[in-house]
Amino acid sequence: MMRRGEIIAIGSELLLGGRLDTNSIFLSEGLASNGVEVRFKTIVGDTEADIVAALRTAVRRADVVLLTGGLGPTSDDRTRKAVARATGRPLRRRAEAIEGMRRRLAAWGRTPSAAQQRQGLIPTGAEVLANPVGSAPGFVLRWQGALIAALPGVPVEAERMFTKAVLPRLREGGVAGHIERKVLHTTGLPESDVEQRIGDLLPSDGGIRLGLLASPLGVIVSLTLPVPDGAAGGIRGGRGRSARVRLEKTFRAVRRKLGRHVYAEGTDTMEQVVGRYLAKRGLILALAESCTGGLIGHRLTQVPGSSAYLDRGVVCYSNRAKTELLGVPAGLIARHGAVSAPVAAAMAKGIRVTSKASVGLSVTGIAGPGGGTATKPVGLVYVGLDTMSQGTGKVSKTQAFRFHGTRETIKLRASQAALNLLREWLLGPAPLIDHDSSFPRR
Ligand code: AMP
Ligand code: MG
Repeated sequence: MMRRGEIIAIGSELLLGGRLDTNSIFLSEGLASNGVEVRFKTIVGDTEADIVAALRTAVRRADVVLLTGGLGPTSDDRTRKAVARATGRPLRRRAEAIEGMRRRLAAWGRTPSAAQQRQGLIPTGAEVLANPVGSAPGFVLRWQGALIAALPGVPVEAERMFTKAVLPRLREGGVAGHIERKVLHTTGLPESDVEQRIGDLLPSDGGIRLGLLASPLGVIVSLTLPVPDGAAGGIRGGRGRSARVRLEKTFRAVRRKLGRHVYAEGTDTMEQVVGRYLAKRGLILALAESCTGGLIGHRLTQVPGSSAYLDRGVVCYSNRAKTELLGVPAGLIARHGAVSAPVAAAMAKGIRVTSKASVGLSVTGIAGPGGGTATKPVGLVYVGLDTMSQGTGKVSKTQAFRFHGTRETIKLRASQAALNLLREWLLGPAPLIDHDSSFPRR
């Protein structure tokens, strides 16, 4: 049987609405893929009695309890004290905890302050976990049959300590099954359509669970399957393998059914996928963004190596900018309005021609909440694509969308729609064009 896990996120800011508990996302994934099914997540503030109560409850139900947060040096960091009280293991000053801190601080020419020294107080019998990226040490102890690990709150520190110190302890004695998870990302289909298309592909034995998660970028589809321990040979045993094959088969059927709406798998993003296609074909992209205000450029440049295929992006927010920077005729804007198919087309062509890139991509729309009219409502967005005229022929196209949601959501959806227009063109018959021969070589 799979072990049971719980996560307790500690910090009053997580309850006040100032910050979201993101640590439990990677902690859940890490536990699931290592044979621990997460059954409960609790968020508590920086109140010792609440942490004690949450921990006692969790230990009654779970084999593994992960705490995150409250290990810092300030008086509102109460995790150490709470664990000591809940488990009846008084805090003791631990040389190895202080030593790690001292070494780290020495590199900056500093010594641990009195407050930082408090971070060296660890419950008796616990093992100290070094913090390779921050000052607060963590710790792990066994109590009432459960493995309890206390990790820092800072996400990068929690993640590193979990991977380096907690995972190896979870794997001690072998993994008794785990959860296999396959994910794909779709765009352009509402959640209900996705479900309708693929609902009947899931085997009726109930083993594979379908998860649909709607976001401004599209619907994320996940298939999960708890894989039991093989009778022999652990997870690589026969039962594990056949479960994985079943999941893979269903995954392929789902992907086929969703067809061109699927733009990525696993942890891939739209900007990575588009970047890869551009790089493979040696194409250079230039952007003309109005209502997205540079968001497409930001997303593309989040990918390391994007300089290989992204030349430039202009934020041409005003009509004058569209005319001055891209050569969009003022008369065209006057005739059709800035939010129109002809202007989107002229923007894409304008940025391609002025940059000498191979492909121009444009967005113009009304992000709201104001500025909408009866004929041009909030959420109306045009995206445009313009390519060079060699090879398989010139492509100049626009697409209209009517998005709903907040200003931020509409900007996200618009950026996704533009990148998807580019992706679909890249997926088509291989464009043989290269960038303008006068484009500077890199
Ligand atoms: P702490 O270890 O409680 O002092 O937290 C240090 C920093 O990490 C603070 O800025 C917290 O807001 C942040 N943090 C704490 N817990 C979490 C969590 N569960 N998810 C994301 N950030 C967190
Ligand atoms: Mg805190």
